[in-house]
Amino acid sequence: LARWRSRQAEELVGEVTVAYNKDTSPNKLNLGVGAYRTEEGKPLVLNVVRRAEQILVNDESRVKEYLGITGLADFNKLSAKLILGADSPAIQDNRVTTVQCLSGTGSLRVGAEFLARHYHEKTIYIPNPTWGNHPKIFNLAGLSVKTYRYYDPATKGLDFQGLLEDLGAAPSGAIVLLHACAHNPTGVDPTLEQWEQIRQLIRSKQLLPFFDSAYQGFASGSLDADAESVRMFVADGGECLAAQSYAKNMGLYGERVGALSIVCKAADVASRVESQLKLVIRPMYSNPPIHGASIVAAILKDSEMYQEWTVELKAMADRILSMRQQLFEALSARGTPGDWSHIIKQIGMFTFTGLNSEQVAFMTKEYHIYMTSDGRISMAGLSSRTVPHLADAIHAAVTR
Ligand code: PMP
Repeated sequence: LARWRSRQAEELVGEVTVAYNKDTSPNKLNLGVGAYRTEEGKPLVLNVVRRAEQILVNDESRVKEYLGITGLADFNKLSAKLILGADSPAIQDNRVTTVQCLSGTGSLRVGAEFLARHYHEKTIYIPNPTWGNHPKIFNLAGLSVKTYRYYDPATKGLDFQGLLEDLGAAPSGAIVLLHACAHNPTGVDPTLEQWEQIRQLIRSKQLLPFFDSAYQGFASGSLDADAESVRMFVADGGECLAAQSYAKNMGLYGERVGALSIVCKAADVASRVESQLKLVIRPMYSNPPIHGASIVAAILKDSEMYQEWTVELKAMADRILSMRQQLFEALSARGTPGDWSHIIKQIGMFTFTGLNSEQVAFMTKEYHIYMTSDGRISMAGLSSRTVPHLADAIHAAVTR
């Protein structure tokens, strides 16, 4: 059961929340949720999003007609610029086709369906571990899923050698899923030097990189820094795919706003790819929803609102960084056995604590702390008030 649980950890996020809701303790703490929370533990709607929504509501020329199959044109252009960089040569050369999809998940699925139909190699390599939905999305799209080594439990860091060996042994042409930044669930990212080596290997073997960018700006607080990995691959003139989500970085979770960009070798290929993407999308959901994409486009095209967004985004990223620091210091202060530096080294919303399923069960039973049984905690679910309680629980779990 323990092994099954850790494999299905993502599914258990829902189960964790159900158990949390039933718990009547005043000290209960839910660290399973994959969404940002304020210091007060509340969901956050960004001020800039409220502002953009007001503008949209007040604009009586706006109607609710269907969008085209590929979505809002402005949104697509601005999304490509956001991930690839405003001065990206690939955009200038019209080598990029971008379609609006249903958040990150929908973008991954549309990209996968396209590849399963038209790309010559049907195997995709995904990191081990990865976001629980990845294998299902790719399997159901008709790709065959294999894993490459990624996380080393001994160092709680990247198994870089294993990664290079596994991708080096992949058949030429295979697709490789890469988390653009803030790897979920481990919080472990390659350094820029490691990314460069990965790029060289991928290009030399003619593997096809498929980036999942669910946390741009949310990891470091800088939209450019968090897109660096993708931009390195685009700068070399080669092909790649990128699935973008605005769930985390604009807090638009339920609006389901995302984009799939396919960077091709030439402009004529990009336009043929776009025709094929339309054939994928049309029978799937006809066309995407209008509201969320209009919010994003309004923010991205107005320099003042864009600026406001970057400030709010950085505040979310900084709060998470501060939670990492506070938890690390609280464990150091308690003299908790073990090296906990991974808490401040890991990146993004999650920390892969290294706690095992028994320790997690103990913390839930004795301290009313809820998290997935693989030991992943959402840093966004913590606050200065709750850090000491979590540190007490971790200390007790590892010294028991
Ligand atoms: N990829 C990763 C790695 C994620 O963590 C998530 C969200 N948990 C997604 C994609 C997709 O999220 P959404 O469909 O809500 O944009």
